[in-house]
Amino acid sequence: MQNIAIFGATGSIGGSTLDVLSHYPDRYNVFALTANSRLDELVKLCEQFKPRIAVTADETKKSELAAKLAERGLKSIEVWAGQDDLVKLAALPEVDVAVLAIVGAAGLAPTFSAARAGKRLLLANKESVVCGGALLMQTIRESGAELLPVDSEHNAIFQCLASASDAQRSKARIILTASGGPFRKRMDLSGVTPEDAVAHPTWNMGQKISVDSATLMNKGLEVIEASWLFGFPADRIDVVIHPQSLIHSMVEYADGCILAQMGAPDMRTPIAYSLGWPERLDGFAKRVDFAALGSVTFEAPDTKRFPQLSYAYEALRSGGCASIVLNAANEIAVEAFLARRIGFTDIARACREMMDTLVMPAPRSLEEVLDADHLARVKTREVIARW
Ligand code: NDP
Ligand code: MG
Repeated sequence: MQNIAIFGATGSIGGSTLDVLSHYPDRYNVFALTANSRLDELVKLCEQFKPRIAVTADETKKSELAAKLAERGLKSIEVWAGQDDLVKLAALPEVDVAVLAIVGAAGLAPTFSAARAGKRLLLANKESVVCGGALLMQTIRESGAELLPVDSEHNAIFQCLASASDAQRSKARIILTASGGPFRKRMDLSGVTPEDAVAHPTWNMGQKISVDSATLMNKGLEVIEASWLFGFPADRIDVVIHPQSLIHSMVEYADGCILAQMGAPDMRTPIAYSLGWPERLDGFAKRVDFAALGSVTFEAPDTKRFPQLSYAYEALRSGGCASIVLNAANEIAVEAFLARRIGFTDIARACREMMDTLVMPAPRSLEEVLDADHLARVKTREVIARW
């Protein structure tokens, strides 16, 4: 029996993870669930899964959460709150697996904590890899933590690289696939609304990542994520648009052989793979009906309409704090777009402006990562307020 702590349990990945876990009650124990502000959702999950600990990231909501749990007769569940408690939970000896499914750089501290404590990390929170970069990878190496990428592309690459020697990896190329998002065929992006942007054609996800998929920032973040996770430089990572989301990504070896990982677009598959690894769980995955699929197509990404993909390559190549700045600017701009304070194309504009104005040396500690992230957020808010 393994104890699972889910950071971001009330989100899209959190929900898919709980769905997977509910199929294996004899193998996995839901030990702790965390949320930010959606306490009613969290309480519902507590009722269903009876964890030992429930955490709200918002310290001011601790007594409210305790009262809501007590109302439902769930007094025995321990109530924790705040960033420090998230960090403490990630390192708790009873926790075997930390599912990191918080959205945005808010996931950094718990991810580092689980990494330092040598846990198995089921890592969905790509922003912590983008910002933590070399430091996170070094922490994982030193502690002996196991990192299983949940992001479907990286889960695919992990599988495609499984039998490669170091020499083979050093000459291989990663080919990340992208659905292209809802605006693949829309030429004029000026009037795009939040409702248009979150309507993803193939994947059902949280709001922020849905907007990131519409701008191709998501693929940009994934390029940076792939570079750190697998140790590939920017010039050996390609992106191709593949609207059917059947192939989750590929690795091309020096001899021309290409390994691709395929499956239905359902996050439960990479989650189950990461939970079960090195075994494979069975039971519930959707099957692909190849005969009904018809054609599978590919095209080049349009970086004129979606410049954030090129900004990510640029950030990766320039090093320093560029990836942290790009990520923070994007998070703040997406938030402003969802609140209808700026337009869709202003998201890229904010990223460009911040990358041009805020240049800092590479961080040497988690604290320096968090400082750079904080500064970039403040500056992006200022820029947006000036517009
Ligand atoms: P959601 O928005 O659906 O869920 C986010 C979760 O994080 C919620 O539980 C939310 O709590 C919590 N949260 C939000 N803000 C904070 C904060 N400041 N501190 C602590 N917790 C917080 O996101 P997704 O599930 O879509 O995505 C989660 C991560 O996984 C992202 O990094 C995303 O890029 C990545 N990912 C997602 C995929 C998907 O299919 N959805 C695919 C691949 C990667 P509350 O509900 O209380 O607000
Ligand atoms: Mg992905």
